[in-house]
Amino acid sequence: MRVVTSPQEMRSLVGEHRARGEAVGLVPTMGFFHAGHISLMRAAREENDCVVVSLFVNPAQFGPGEDLRDYPRDLARDVKMAGGVGVDYIFHPGVEDMYPRPYLSYVEVEGITEGLCGAARPGHFRGVATVVAKLFHIIPAHRAYFGLKDAQQVRVIQKMVEDLNFDVEIVVCPTVREEDGLAMSSRNIYLGEEERKAATSLYRSLQLAEQLVRGGERSAGAVTAAMRGLLEGEPLVRPEYVEVVDWQELRPVERLEGRILVALAARVGRARLIDNILLDVP
Ligand code: AMP
Repeated sequence: MRVVTSPQEMRSLVGEHRARGEAVGLVPTMGFFHAGHISLMRAAREENDCVVVSLFVNPAQFGPGEDLRDYPRDLARDVKMAGGVGVDYIFHPGVEDMYPRPYLSYVEVEGITEGLCGAARPGHFRGVATVVAKLFHIIPAHRAYFGLKDAQQVRVIQKMVEDLNFDVEIVVCPTVREEDGLAMSSRNIYLGEEERKAATSLYRSLQLAEQLVRGGERSAGAVTAAMRGLLEGEPLVRPEYVEVVDWQELRPVERLEGRILVALAARVGRARLIDNILLDVP
């Protein structure tokens, strides 16, 4: 496995693979790998000849006062873990490689970026769309792999690819969880012992939502109220939003039908955690 820092070199290496007729898979990440990242890499490894993992803590997607400086980083460990899965390249550029000064060009996906995490993190999805568009140009992959854990991010990337005619297939992979249900996240490292226990309430509230829907509940308000009730039983958990939206537009729904996303964000200690489930309601 090779670690490449220069965008020009990365593009020419991928160009050589493409010229040989090889299929290229890209897994964009911010590093500090866990089993969620590894599942994306494995999927990419199975379906492509050449696998590139990008590892870049993208300043453009962090707001003022967010955890850009504290975001966990461990390149040596990440390189070992990716090597173990058979990744071919880690693309690990510096901030100055990705954002030459003065940096003036951004990708803005409208509408679906306004609610859910977009409401509390203005500019976040502009940063995400911009860096992913740049990665798609630097690493012209046939397929790119994203986790459903970040469901709104998935919709933003899918819409950007559709609207701006990117020639890449977006592959969406299921959320990988700890044994007790907590969604894997690099930010789980921020949790103290009690907070870690309390954080299991996020997935428990999503399971409750699923149970209610399976039991015939069709009111979004009733589902979110029950979820909030469960979360309020955990004093260490401060919910930011608990919402049911349609999968296409990510707009709040009142009646549950078709493909819906039940999504939430909460602060637990200094960690901001998100989780969701996707349901197909008959
Ligand atoms: P990150 O490094 O947190 O930006 O995540 C990089 C990619 O891994 C994104 O596509 C995430 O959605 C995905 N990912 C993060 N956590 C998980 C998880 N628990 N299960 C599946 N995919 C995940």
